[in-house]
Amino acid sequence: MAKYMCMDTLKWLLNDVHSVEDLFKYERYQDYDKDSVDILLDTAKTWSDQEFYPIFREMDENPCKFVDGEITSHPNLKRILKKAGEDGWIGNIFDYDEGGSQMPHTVANATNHIFQCANNHIPGYMGLTAGSADLIRTFGVQELKDKYMPKMMAGEWGGTMCLTEPQAGSSLSDITTSATPQADGSFKISGQKIFISGGDHQAASNFVHLVLARIDGAPAGTKGISLFVVPKHMEGEDGSLTYNNVETISEFEKMGQRGYATVHLVFGEKGDCVGHLIGQEGKGLKHMFKMMNGARIDVGMTAASTAMAAYHHSLQYAKERPQGRKIENSGKKDPNQGQTLIINHPDVRRMLLLQKAIVEGSLSILLETAKYSDLAHVEEGDAKDEYHLLLELLTPIAKTYPSEKGQEAINNGLQIYGGYGFCMDFPLQQYYRDIRIMSLYEGTTGIQSLDLLGRKVTAQNGAALQLLMKKITEVTDEASNHEELKPYVAQLNKSLESVQRALGYLLPMAMKGDYESFLADATAFMSMTSNVVIAYQWLKMATSAKHSLVTGDTTYQAKFYESKIHTMKFYFKYELPQVRAILATILNDDELTILKEDVDVFV
Ligand SMILES: Cc1cc2nc3c(=O)[nH]c(=O)nc-3n(C[C@H](O)[C@H](O)[C@H](O)COP(=O)(O)OP(=O)(O)OC[C@H]3O[C@@H](n4cnc5c(N)ncnc54)[C@H](O)[C@@H]3O)c2cc1C
Repeated sequence: MAKYMCMDTLKWLLNDVHSVEDLFKYERYQDYDKDSVDILLDTAKTWSDQEFYPIFREMDENPCKFVDGEITSHPNLKRILKKAGEDGWIGNIFDYDEGGSQMPHTVANATNHIFQCANNHIPGYMGLTAGSADLIRTFGVQELKDKYMPKMMAGEWGGTMCLTEPQAGSSLSDITTSATPQADGSFKISGQKIFISGGDHQAASNFVHLVLARIDGAPAGTKGISLFVVPKHMEGEDGSLTYNNVETISEFEKMGQRGYATVHLVFGEKGDCVGHLIGQEGKGLKHMFKMMNGARIDVGMTAASTAMAAYHHSLQYAKERPQGRKIENSGKKDPNQGQTLIINHPDVRRMLLLQKAIVEGSLSILLETAKYSDLAHVEEGDAKDEYHLLLELLTPIAKTYPSEKGQEAINNGLQIYGGYGFCMDFPLQQYYRDIRIMSLYEGTTGIQSLDLLGRKVTAQNGAALQLLMKKITEVTDEASNHEELKPYVAQLNKSLESVQRALGYLLPMAMKGDYESFLADATAFMSMTSNVVIAYQWLKMATSAKHSLVTGDTTYQAKFYESKIHTMKFYFKYELPQVRAILATILNDDELTILKEDVDVFV
């Protein structure tokens, strides 16, 4: 079987770089320790090798289809989801008394990484079901929890998030699905939702949709949106299922993630469709954000994992493909000498290092973000607020960097395959197609960038950014103890000054009320900031590796640690300098993208 990820790197990131053990001192996580986490990771890997990776390609070649009113799915999916339920992978972060195992998000995300590297189609079904069960758990009354959560967590029923409508994608304030109050306290739901992931398929006997809708007479905009639980089938006392008029009318034919169903649902067109309000009326979008924030980190992890798998495939290919000869110092090539392997060519090594820098940097920031989520959960008082602020700030970055730069990483991997990269017999084209959705769903890159600059950076007078700077300073202080790392500390500090300069230029526009100019280059700001955040991750990794080398730590071989320091240097040479160019764009006051009434630039 091809190598699709690196367990050593994952375990090293968890244990050495992000000290997951810090979490085990909290009462909530006291049943976990390094050994039990190791076993969990190894179990996830064994199961992925057996069930996820072998059908990755089949799921693409035999995609979900709408046939006779049903959505086809891979024949193994039902067995996999059932086992996911039985073995406690769905809802593992929930409390013990809710059927979960109080697993830290950091550990759950690490296991997800393994599943997603093996097959980026299947974990979405598990994640959406867990996410929607989480909403019911948080906002639902006991009766709803008892009715839905056990079957969802058992992997028998699927869960979904239903936000998007044909006229309301990025702008959810425009949704029109309606909810009409009934005498018994329930609501009649009417409307349609498009692009619903896992919204219907043969591997589950029922679907529990978490639907955003407007109660009749609710105000326009987001304040009029409420959240409802709407099952495809209502379950009677005797366990019988009655159709609830949630009709599946099509499956979207997609360029990637073709084994992961994406359906068009119509609610209540041919008969009554019953839904139950959860949480407060008018707070539906706010409640849904609980699921969306988690889903954004999941999407970032799926992107990092998809690009990670592509990296390992192209690395293997580069080690096996002979082509050309090494250039001798004389500048000549000796035709009598045998061909060299392409991994020996500097340009191929550049592409491999770029992939490694992007995918391992992405994995690192995702684990750090997950750890902040755990700490925000278990800490109290000011510390809780601080971790929450860090989580909020990093979420759009942890979603966007892996999904945007992951595309670039896979593109370079595909290039390493030469012409074969373009051919369907070889795997890179599938990763390339699969990752493309990840900068689109769960909020496009444009929307994430507006969120980062317009909300997260400015919240509480920049408190989140200051906290991040504190975290970065802790790493630069530690790195400065090592002579070899000092130049990189200086370079990172310079890049941080660039972010400050960009903000110094942009924030006065917001203060003047010129929001369009303030946000016009939000995506450039995202690029710059996430580049610096990943540099911070690489310096943190290099510092940990250096420490292990200096102290003679033999957990991993010396060449493992050296490769991390080498990749950090690559990142600082090839990636981080781009911050200066982006700063120049941001500081340039020529407003070329803002619509001016009398200028038609697209002639
Ligand atoms: C495979 C797939 C699975 C999906 N799964 C789900 C799901 O499970 N549940 C669900 O509810 N939805 C789902 N979606 C929907 C997805 O979240 C939306 O497609 C996405 O939010 C973008 O909405 P849109 O397609 O309407 O594009 P639009 O909102 O029309 O955006 C088009 C372009 O305009 C830009 N844009 C829009 N508004 C602004 C603005 N104010 N400022 C700057 N730029 C802007 C966007 O960034 C984008 O580049 C899925 C979509 C796909 C394709």
